[in-house]
Order: sequence, then structure tokens, then C-alpha cells
Amino acid sequence: MAELLPYAVSADNSRGRRFPEPFPAYRSEFQRDRDRIVHSTAFRRLEYKTQVFVNHEGDHFRTRLTHTLEVAQIARGIARALGLNEDLAEAISLAHDLGHTPYGHAGQDALNEFMRDYGGFEHNLQSLRIVDKLEQRYASFDGLNLCFETREGILKHCSVATAGRLGDLGERFINRTQPSLEAQICNLADEIAYNNHDIDDGLRSGLLSFDQLKEVSLFERNWASVRDAYGAIDERRLVHETVRRMINALVCDLIDMTTSNISRCLPQTLDDVRQAGVLVGFSGEMDDAQQEMKRFLRKNLYQHHEVLRMTRKAQRIVADLFAAFLDDPRMLPPAYRSGDNQPRRVADYIAGMTDRYAMKEHRRLFAVGEI
Ligand code: MG
Repeated sequence: MAELLPYAVSADNSRGRRFPEPFPAYRSEFQRDRDRIVHSTAFRRLEYKTQVFVNHEGDHFRTRLTHTLEVAQIARGIARALGLNEDLAEAISLAHDLGHTPYGHAGQDALNEFMRDYGGFEHNLQSLRIVDKLEQRYASFDGLNLCFETREGILKHCSVATAGRLGDLGERFINRTQPSLEAQICNLADEIAYNNHDIDDGLRSGLLSFDQLKEVSLFERNWASVRDAYGAIDERRLVHETVRRMINALVCDLIDMTTSNISRCLPQTLDDVRQAGVLVGFSGEMDDAQQEMKRFLRKNLYQHHEVLRMTRKAQRIVADLFAAFLDDPRMLPPAYRSGDNQPRRVADYIAGMTDRYAMKEHRRLFAVGEI
């Protein structure tokens, strides 16, 4: 890795791990975090968790795992271009969606509804709970014992009430300070990845059409430049050429704008970054274009009648499972039975399920004529 800028996160200015460990040989602290995440069980489950399209609908659609890898790729590129800690950006990206329930946001909404009286359910907090507690692989501690800055990046948002219970990690939501630049990058790399791959998957599935997408200015502009350069080309190539130009335009705008924000604010240390406003961002024009793309996807893809059918069905599966397990926790695997906070353990169990495992459990518990 190239020399880091003084305000990048490094082993020297890190707040370290909760349980002190010797410095790793031949790796940086943040490479070690990344490696622990890749070796976790929750990471492997991402392969069978939905982003927008349910896993069995086709082998070419994104899953949480491929989404996660795309976020990491984008975040690493941006971090390197800005002289920041690429290993940290990679670690945060690889962990950012670990807490997602089966069936994406549909599953989370159902679980949150059921958990309302027991502290709610939020995938961000669940990602943190996984790396802090639920992964049980190491002899000396629960969780992965990641560095403060990796955990800080995973906790993208959090209510002030919850922040009060999180100790040093919650402080910034109360003091209204910022996380590291690396964490800020991952946040936007996530958006760049999902907006663009949802357009690609939307077209592939036939739920979105070219004609519709021409109302999105960023798409229209880049699509026109491909068409002007190459004339009539195969549709899949046309889509890919357009999407790759959009990603490139967003990433370059973000790097340019962030560079200019940094040169205006001139942070000298990581602490200066935390005290400054948000420094990683798009130009006003690109921000508008990105917001327009999000509105388009919400209206035309996430609320498409075929996606909604899937969403409602997913919510029913999660709701049925939650009600059944809470009603009789003896049906849970022993590790998930707990006298003091049973609803939270039911939520942990269900949130950990992949799409296909949740369906299988639902069949096991509810299919008549099948034991
Ligand atoms: Mg994500």
C-alpha cells in the first residue's frame, strides 16, 4: 500500500481492539480485520441472501455476496485514489451487509415490526452484533474483535437512544461528529453499487425497459454516448457499456469533489476529519442525478407488482417463523434459547437465515402432510 495521508486511518491513530492482541506478522491490522470477516460464517451466508431478486429466480442476478464484492471494489478504488486506507475501506465494505435478514428489506421490515416492543431490529446494528458477539470462532473472545474504526464504519446510522447504549461507538451520533473518510467512502460506494446493479438486474429481468430508463438523465446521457460511439450493438453490451460509464462517472465525480472538499478544509489529523462536516460526497449536479436515479428505482423497480408480490410473501414467511418460535422457543436450536431475552434470540436466529433456509424452515413448521 502506498504511503497513507496523515488524516487516513492507520495502526498509529487507531483506537484499537476491545481485547488487545499482538500486532499481526506480515499483515496490517486492517488486513487482519478483512481476513476475519471473509472467514466468518455470516459472510458465507451472503451468497444465499437476496438483494432485490429472490435467489432462485436466476443465476445472474446479484446476491448480497456479489453486491458486497462490488461495494468493496468501488470503495477500494476510491480510497486508493484519495491516499486513504484501502484495507480499512475493504474490511468495512465486506462487513456492511452481514446483518441483513433473508429477503432483504422485506425481511427486515417484518422483523422490526415484531421486535417493536423488544428494542426493534435494524440490519446495521445486527451487522455490528454479528462481528461483536454472534460469531463464535475465537478462543479468547466472542465476535471477531475488530478494530474500532472497522466497527465504526459498519455502524452507518443509529438513533440517539440506541447510541447511548453503545459506549464509545455511539458517541459520534450524540456529538454529531463524523466517522473516518474510509467509512464515509463505503457509505457512498454502497449506493453507487446498488443503484447501478439494480438498473442492470432490472433490465435483465424485464421488469425495467430501455424506454423507461431514458427518463433517468444519467442513464440517458451515458446510453447516448455509447450509441454515438458504437451505433447498433448487441443489447447486453449496450447495457454493460452504459452501466460501466455511469459507475465511472459517479466514482470520478466523487473523487474530484472529495479532493476539493479536503483541500478547502485541510484536515491534518484523523481527529480533524471527525470534527469537520461530511467531506466525502458528490458535486451538487451529480447528487441530483443520483437522487433522480433512486426515485426512479423506488417507483419502477422496488414497487413493481412482481417485486411487491415477492416482498409480501417474504414478510409472511418471516412473520410466521417469528410467531412460531416465540410461541414455543423449545423448537429453536438450544444455542438460541435464552431465558432473559428470548425475542432477541429469535430475531438472531431468523436474521441469520438465508432465503432458502427460511423457506425450508417454513415448510418444516407449516406444511401439512410433511413432518
Ligand atoms: Mg449494501
